[in-house]
Amino acid sequence: VSTTRNPDPAFIDRLRELAGPHGLLDAPEDVAPYLVDHRRLHHGRTPCVLRPDTTERVAAILAACHEARCAVVPVGGNTSYCGGPTPDASGTQVVLSLARLDRIRSVDAADFQLVAEAGCTLRQVQEVADSADRLFPLSLGSEGSCQIGGNLSTNAGGTAVLRYGMARDLVLGLEVVLPDGRVLDQLKGLRKDNTGYDLKHLFIGAEGTLGVITAVRCKLFPRPVTLETAFVAVRDPLAAVALLERLREVTGDAVSTFELVPRIALEMVLRHIERAADPLDRAYPWYALIEVSTSRDDPGLREVLMATLSEAIEREEVADAALAASGPQRDAFWRLRETIPEAQRHEGASIKHDVSVAPRRMPEFIREGTELALRLAPGARVVAYGHLGDGNVHFNLSQPPAGDREAFESLAPQIHRAMHDLVARYDGSFSAEHGIGQLKVGELERYEDPVALDVMRAIKHALDPHGIMNPGKVLRSNPG
Ligand SMILES: Cc1cc2nc3c(=O)[nH]c(=O)nc-3n(C[C@H](O)[C@H](O)[C@H](O)COP(=O)(O)OP(=O)(O)OC[C@H]3O[C@@H](n4cnc5c(N)ncnc54)[C@H](O)[C@@H]3O)c2cc1C
Repeated sequence: VSTTRNPDPAFIDRLRELAGPHGLLDAPEDVAPYLVDHRRLHHGRTPCVLRPDTTERVAAILAACHEARCAVVPVGGNTSYCGGPTPDASGTQVVLSLARLDRIRSVDAADFQLVAEAGCTLRQVQEVADSADRLFPLSLGSEGSCQIGGNLSTNAGGTAVLRYGMARDLVLGLEVVLPDGRVLDQLKGLRKDNTGYDLKHLFIGAEGTLGVITAVRCKLFPRPVTLETAFVAVRDPLAAVALLERLREVTGDAVSTFELVPRIALEMVLRHIERAADPLDRAYPWYALIEVSTSRDDPGLREVLMATLSEAIEREEVADAALAASGPQRDAFWRLRETIPEAQRHEGASIKHDVSVAPRRMPEFIREGTELALRLAPGARVVAYGHLGDGNVHFNLSQPPAGDREAFESLAPQIHRAMHDLVARYDGSFSAEHGIGQLKVGELERYEDPVALDVMRAIKHALDPHGIMNPGKVLRSNPG
């Protein structure tokens, strides 16, 4: 339960001092970008944005806020989809930006790890790994602006989960400032350490409700040397799942990406994204963007991929395929996939679902979900795309082409309910990688096991008894 209070001007002055030089923004034009989320669904107010540049300053700020019962909303790159980093409308919650904690503290190529402060962008972490001849495999469309602290706080997924796991799997340790200002140092970075509870996992995916992540020890991997990328026309999602299973077997589990792209998504990209070109000679209803890679020089990998695709063509599971012949062609294939959200924005309103079910059940789910959605929103366009290899698709609906935007948007609650009920029947998740934020608090209450909710509330209360950390996100701040 949140018992936060309105910070008075004297307290804001105290925060200004604790945040250090240039550490507090309160001019309306400076604060404005922090008052709205990436999708512009959530708007809020704040007395100030704090931008400390060291862990010690974050700790001093949280200790003061804990004592004064002032609510704190952490923000990373503000690219998340559920309103997690947006303050509420009360104007009493201070925003805490991690952007100035942007140093790489160490790189240890021999032990395959590096330590980055929370405000480093994901791209910065990838580039530092790359310059040490290593791979940090987390990869998202927002990687130029999202931060490693935000990635861990949302337990981000992305396009390499199939091979390397979610953000949670890519971390050896964290440094976290607790809501009362104490610093929890779990940065040792041992691969084996069974000394009691593994506390880092509490903060991963907690969306800033249990503390502030200030540094991350990331796992690195050998850099791929052989990398093959194919844009493949598959008969349907069922054929795609069969192809994925076969490829995993014959490549020695070298599949790093397996993304489903329906024709409608490709058409939107071709319509709206500059220089986008259809990779195949004619149109097909479904495609898969596939990447296989190994860290050794292995010309045989391309042959295995081509042979497997040929067999699938014989079985009529695949109709055609293009293999990237160069780096730029690979980038062009990736752009077709990564610009789908942007292209969809140009098509008017959309109603989005980020769902996961067991991969083998995904074809049936897409079929049933499509029928259901079209019954509720006749004329809508179903754009179900994404991380098929992880059993996670973004099941999005675009409004009917010449339809009324507001009328379509008014259907959203009914469609979300029907889709999420369907997901529950498939033993799936209504939030596979985007989290809860403020958008899905009610969904969590509706679909989560009540025992799990009790445990979450108990953890929240134990770590943050005054409810100052990101109130109203993930769990309701004042239930009942
Ligand atoms: C084009 C595009 C593509 C995307 N693709 C994917 C994808 O493939 N997979 C995926 O999972 N997501 C994807 N996302 C969503 C988003 O990029 C991720 O959720 C990302 O991990 C958020 O990082 P951020 O730094 O922007 O966090 P923010 O949006 O700033 O914050 C997210 C949450 O974490 C909290 N938080 C932030 N930093 C900290 C910290 N240091 N300590 C404690 N709490 C903190 C905030 O309070 C908030 O609740 C995409 C977004 C865009 C715009």
